[in-house]
Amino acid sequence: MEEIVVASTMRATTEAGRCAGKSIGLVPTMGYLHEGHISLVERARADNDVVVASIFVNPTQFGPSEDLLRYPRDLDRDRVIAEQAGVDILFVPAAETMYPNGPEHQEIWVDPGSLAAHLDGASRPFHFRGVATVVAKLFNLVQPHRAYFGQKDGQQALIIERMAEELAYGITIVTVPTVRDADGLALSSRNVFLSPQERSQAVVIPQALTLARTLILEGRRDWAEIVAPMQALIEREAPLARIDFIGAVATDTIAPVSIITGNTMIALAVYFGGTRLIDNLRVRFTDGTPRFT
Ligand code: AMP
Repeated sequence: MEEIVVASTMRATTEAGRCAGKSIGLVPTMGYLHEGHISLVERARADNDVVVASIFVNPTQFGPSEDLLRYPRDLDRDRVIAEQAGVDILFVPAAETMYPNGPEHQEIWVDPGSLAAHLDGASRPFHFRGVATVVAKLFNLVQPHRAYFGQKDGQQALIIERMAEELAYGITIVTVPTVRDADGLALSSRNVFLSPQERSQAVVIPQALTLARTLILEGRRDWAEIVAPMQALIEREAPLARIDFIGAVATDTIAPVSIITGNTMIALAVYFGGTRLIDNLRVRFTDGTPRFT
């Protein structure tokens, strides 16, 4: 595995690959790699000749009171995991590369507009502007054919798909299913912050989504009749939980729906202490029959 820090080296390397007719897959991450990231790399490995993974903890997607400084970092460990997973090139850009004038002096942004108005976008103002902007920079630096994102960050994956289309990147966005622990909790770099008690109660997050799925399978379509039992389950089973939001949105507009009949994402964010965890379930209907991912 080659490690690249300098932007011009990154550009030259993938340009040479492209000229040699090789397909290039990019897996953007913030590091502290786990099985979720590995599944993205494996998918990229299966689809492409060259796999680039990037590690960059992007300051502009963190709010002023969020966990940028305490976000877990371990580059030595990440190198080993990335190489074993099949990464060819690990791109670890310096902050000056990604923000030449400093993040606080960045003037040109990719604005996800109303796609960031709800769910995480409502709880974290400017988060998706930071995400879309840093991903745009990574696309420009790496120039991949395909880029891989996890469904766990559901709103992010939808926004990046739309960005690639509307900004004419010509990059195929692949969304990879959420990898979960044995009890169903979605893997996340932030899970390391959970105390043993919080970790055991955090299982209510996937359980709430399973409950939504059961209610939809039973024929409920009214969101109010689905969200109330989800909320009750969390409040009953997880006294340490503080619900940030539970929402249902149309996957094309990311605007709230009150009746679930079209392509929908049910998403939630729950705090355990200072740790904010997210998860989601996508529902689509074929001939009136709901299907879930
Ligand atoms: P992060 O390092 O948390 O920014 O995540 C980098 C990429 O890995 C994003 O596209 C995430 O959606 C994806 N990812 C994170 N956790 C998981 C997971 N449990 N399953 C699948 N993909 C994930």
